[in-house]
Amino acid sequence: MIMRRISAAAFTLALAAGLAACGSDDGGGDGASGGDDSIKVGIKFDQPGLGLKEGNTYTGFDVDVANYVAKEMGKTKVEFIQAPSKQREDLIATGQVDLVVATYSITDERKEKVSFAGPYFIAGQDLLVAADSTIKGPKDLDGKKLCSVTGSTSADNVKKEVPGVNLQEFDTYSKCAEAVSKGQLDALTTDDTILAGYAAQEQYKGKLKVVGAPFSEERYGIGLKKGDTALCEDVNKALTKMVEDGAWDKAVEDNFGPAGFKVDAKTNPPKLDACS
Ligand code: GLU
Repeated sequence: MIMRRISAAAFTLALAAGLAACGSDDGGGDGASGGDDSIKVGIKFDQPGLGLKEGNTYTGFDVDVANYVAKEMGKTKVEFIQAPSKQREDLIATGQVDLVVATYSITDERKEKVSFAGPYFIAGQDLLVAADSTIKGPKDLDGKKLCSVTGSTSADNVKKEVPGVNLQEFDTYSKCAEAVSKGQLDALTTDDTILAGYAAQEQYKGKLKVVGAPFSEERYGIGLKKGDTALCEDVNKALTKMVEDGAWDKAVEDNFGPAGFKVDAKTNPPKLDACS
């Protein structure tokens, strides 16, 4: 069950401040989609509970957030495009996607190339290990073989946290999970949300476990073209409504509930940043 710490009133206040600062009318915020009824959204395709493609079906928390935002923006067709961690900034900058909703942490470095609406969720970096592993946190990683993904904050953070770590970087987390399950690598590090999804997958049940000691704060934003404040405001408006009308809570329960992932109600749902 989700206990909401930030009240709807706080969200509304944050929104009002953002709108006042912007001072524009509704604007439409069509972004790179060319003003028609469709919108292109970058998501992950292999992260159960967040962004998962099975046949022509897309599921996950990010997918629910993307669909809600698109609908609020009057878009009747959502085209999902795979957005691997390393390609997210480029996909936005080149106009191949209008939005990225893909476990995408807001960072100053990324803000040099793209802008972010949100945050709409706060996760924390953790470790996924074999069920019988003795690894309890980053301090146990010395001399161990660790896996993460190129272009992620997870890889960057762990290099700083454990300078001597033996890090293998793949392009997707599902490849890391497979390597850990086969005993080829000792641990996968990324956001606890993502790890919980793998640990609950049928093929890994009882074989992999999440350590459960988060060592970073990952603020998930919705990436969009740098400087498109009107689009950012539109997205934030939709996110505010999603929390207020209960759709955010429902998306959390639908997508994280099955994996038994406990959402930190002290930080979620988060207060939105002002668009800039
Ligand atoms: N949230 C982190 C990031 O944006 C890790 C998850 C991911 O790579 O999508 O880098």
